[in-house]
Amino acid sequence: MERCPGSPRPDMLPEAGSLWLLRLLRDLQLAQFYRPILEELNVTRPEHFDFVRAEDLDGIGMGRPAQRRLAEALKRHRSGLKSKNWVYKIFGGFAPGQKETTPPSDSLPSLPEPDGRLKCLIPDRAVCRGELLGSGCFGMVHRGLWTLPSGQTVPVAVKSLRVGPEGPEGTELEDFLREVSVMMNLEHPHVLRLHGLVLGQPLQMVMELAPLGSLHARLTAPAPTPPLPLALLCLFLRQVAGAMAYLGARGLVHRDLATRNLLLASPRTIKVADFGLVRPLGGARGRYIMGGPRRIPFAWCAPESLRHGAFSSASDVWMYGVTLWEMFTGGEEPWAGVPPYLILQRLEKDRARLPRPPLCSRALYTLALRCWAYHPADRPTFSDLEGLLQEAWPPEGRCVREVMEPGALRMEPGDPITIIEGSLDSTTWKGQNSRTFKVGSFPASAVTLVDPPPATRPVLRGTPARGERHQRNADGDRGKAKLQDAPQARGQRRNVALQRTKGISKSLESVLSLGPRPTGGGSSPPELRHARTGPQGPPGRPPHLPMATSSSQPPRERPSWPKREPPNSHPIGAPGASKAAIPSGGPLSDPELQRRVMEVELSVHGVTHQECQAALRATGGDVVSAIRNLKVEQLFYLSSWSRADCRRILERYQWDLSAASRYVLAQP
Ligand code: AMP
Repeated sequence: MERCPGSPRPDMLPEAGSLWLLRLLRDLQLAQFYRPILEELNVTRPEHFDFVRAEDLDGIGMGRPAQRRLAEALKRHRSGLKSKNWVYKIFGGFAPGQKETTPPSDSLPSLPEPDGRLKCLIPDRAVCRGELLGSGCFGMVHRGLWTLPSGQTVPVAVKSLRVGPEGPEGTELEDFLREVSVMMNLEHPHVLRLHGLVLGQPLQMVMELAPLGSLHARLTAPAPTPPLPLALLCLFLRQVAGAMAYLGARGLVHRDLATRNLLLASPRTIKVADFGLVRPLGGARGRYIMGGPRRIPFAWCAPESLRHGAFSSASDVWMYGVTLWEMFTGGEEPWAGVPPYLILQRLEKDRARLPRPPLCSRALYTLALRCWAYHPADRPTFSDLEGLLQEAWPPEGRCVREVMEPGALRMEPGDPITIIEGSLDSTTWKGQNSRTFKVGSFPASAVTLVDPPPATRPVLRGTPARGERHQRNADGDRGKAKLQDAPQARGQRRNVALQRTKGISKSLESVLSLGPRPTGGGSSPPELRHARTGPQGPPGRPPHLPMATSSSQPPRERPSWPKREPPNSHPIGAPGASKAAIPSGGPLSDPELQRRVMEVELSVHGVTHQECQAALRATGGDVVSAIRNLKVEQLFYLSSWSRADCRRILERYQWDLSAASRYVLAQP
């Protein structure tokens, strides 16, 4: 039976999450299809139409001309929606072709028990921010101290989402939340760990602190900081290969592997970080194709990424080769001075590759060249690389007599020497004195090889490898920089390189700056919230509540992002039994009311005083319903689920927002 367009029955009030559908259908005078589309086809988001076939629409009685109108309108709607519908894109719209993860509302998948190993929500007041560590794509990273419920404190890094006057940029928020959802599920000794998320304003990620900062900063640190020993660089390469193999095995592509995104957790431990550009590898070909025009770190990218926007584990391997190159050049910028469009031309047409850094042994450079094979299939995998690195590991020697000859690398007996170049039949070798960090040539007779550690099987290579010969032909003399000049020249170039690299590596950064950290608002540890919410019966079907306009609310103390609709503007939650007369506006003087607001505030993570007041107003003063409604809102803004689903998830988790958040964030 047809109903009057635009007038759904009272028992068919649209849930807020699908209002867009009703509006869209109303505009097309197709409102009679609202329920069938929602309930029979399970369409709750525009993207769901990707899975709807003409036959499905035939099945609900929609004629072909109406279907065409709908398709046109959807196209318009979706293009206008792009910047807003970030939650779907993060959690539900991960990759083209990937199946929708939200189940129909009546078939919620079985929920895992809250898992102690999963990351958690962290109350705002449990984290104290200190010194600024750096600034990245989404905002600032501060050193911080996280106080656990036990009172123990943990040094952490706190990454806050940059918030401008209009809220965060859509892509920044998207990448930020994607980074959270990816990191939530990672556990590897060389992958930076996420401890949890502060659902405040701004959103904050609480991560493991890498006290020694980024590898790029270390590589480019000015004197008197000594350069890193070559053997240590090799160790880092092995650690990174392990971490990347782990990511690949989990079906993820990093897309931004570079020394700026490798963090030093200790002098000998590196961690892969910055997962904002991570994407899942979709489809049988194990690739991710970039959707729209996005800025990418050109100089690190494989040709197929530059040409087709195609990313895969093999393109991460290419980036690994560039990262190796950065390490051995002291953090220089790859393809410095070459405009992005020419980089691809140089890679494809000229078959050019980055030149061999003077500090890089031929064996290691050959490994880099293998990472830069033009065809992705010809590149080694990260697992291969772990083995190949063992073979390319520079041999270690020990000085057996003093070398003072002019032009030679100075050394004293006992000095450990890492050999960069040398063969058993040559009289002069090149290496690094690991005591002085100087690099140079020296008589082979001054050094004796020491037994390598069992895990490393160094290979002394006397002749350039095949790939390198090819490289030399292509690049002429570029690879033959003077070994002895390297440390000084590097020192001079460092700052310039850092500046330049900053330009590129931060190309995703927006100019919005974070305002002063807001105070006020409240949150409480999950246990407290849990205890306060207590056992509660399931709310009944929510009645449509009176709307509170934003003008009726007091001015917000905090920046207005996340831009929540006022909690009482949605038909969420039922007024409970314990009702008190709540004034609809004006100053709150009633002590009982103050107490209730406080109770709500203490029970819901990351909400403001004003939001609690509004929530109480909407529930007629019922604390339990206000708490629940706010929790639904918090979860809704954190996930791709509808409010109804969020409510159901929260019910399953006995209204423990922290556990429910862990669940939704852990969804692929
Ligand atoms: P990102 O936003 O991840 O690019 O981080 C920006 C900068 O902040 C990095 O280059 C690091 O210098 C610093 N940083 C980020 N995360 C951490 C961390 N977990 N520990 C220490 N420093 C960090």
